[in-house]
Amino acid sequence: MTASSYIGRFAPTPSGHLHFGSLVAALASYLDARASNGRWLMRMEDLDPPREEPGAQAAILSALESYGFEWDGELVRQSERHDAYAEVLNRLFSHGLAYACTCSRKQLESYNGIYPGLCRNAGHGLEDTAIRLRVPELAYHFTDRVQGEFRQHLGREVGDFVIRRRDGLYAYQLAVVLDDAWQGVTDIVRGADLLDSTPRQLYLQELLGLPQPRYLHVPLIIQPDGHKLGKSYRSPPLARDQATPLLLRALRALGQQPGVELSYASPRELLDWGIRHWNAAMIPHTPTLEDAQLH
Ligand code: GLU
Ligand code: ZN
Repeated sequence: MTASSYIGRFAPTPSGHLHFGSLVAALASYLDARASNGRWLMRMEDLDPPREEPGAQAAILSALESYGFEWDGELVRQSERHDAYAEVLNRLFSHGLAYACTCSRKQLESYNGIYPGLCRNAGHGLEDTAIRLRVPELAYHFTDRVQGEFRQHLGREVGDFVIRRRDGLYAYQLAVVLDDAWQGVTDIVRGADLLDSTPRQLYLQELLGLPQPRYLHVPLIIQPDGHKLGKSYRSPPLARDQATPLLLRALRALGQQPGVELSYASPRELLDWGIRHWNAAMIPHTPTLEDAQLH
């Protein structure tokens, strides 16, 4: 085996258990990393204690272990990275690249989620306010390995976005960019629900002089009735005794073609098969239909 510079990661949020959609994302990032002889890191995105489900962190890690996944190095927790986030936030604020916003939810109701810049020049202080990053009137774009070219105009389609909430919690967009760079992540493989967060992250990388990773967004898993298979809607936790059938289904959702002879393989054997046969070009770019009740 030759040394590889590939570093991938899986970054679950402990707001609930892992479901089939998260298994598909974990599997894709794992197989892509291992097929490149790369490292695969685990990061717990526990930025939001009020929304954390007690026991979810341990449940996520033990589910991944029982499905055969092995990660490299120590688990990183975002709850232990606040100093790094604060340092960058203060830097952005003191350079005028970010500003304090005191607008209430009610005040912003009629703007369709695109912040109209009301506080841009208000000069509010940093304490007890939300902090927003000033976005340029520019389109950011990148070529996703599965989804192809993706483009978004930050000014018109996103607006100045929150990087620290009023309650002092850091936003996903800031933390994810800092941590991926800090951990040396070269390849981000995750669910397509984050496709439209990527241009914000590209802007932050540019602003902070951080390298831009490659991106691969795997298709979402949609139920036949059109619901996204997610934390909020009827998605069962990954059953421990269903690792083999669910890994087979996850492989197929990623366009890989394990044969019927693998029906009784162990989870570890399936992952090894997946590494040997991994072909990212087979991943469909449209959502995959799955019946969430089958588990
Ligand atoms: N923590 C995010 C989630 O669970 C994923 C972040 C990422 O992969 O960039 O949806
Ligand atoms: Zn405001």
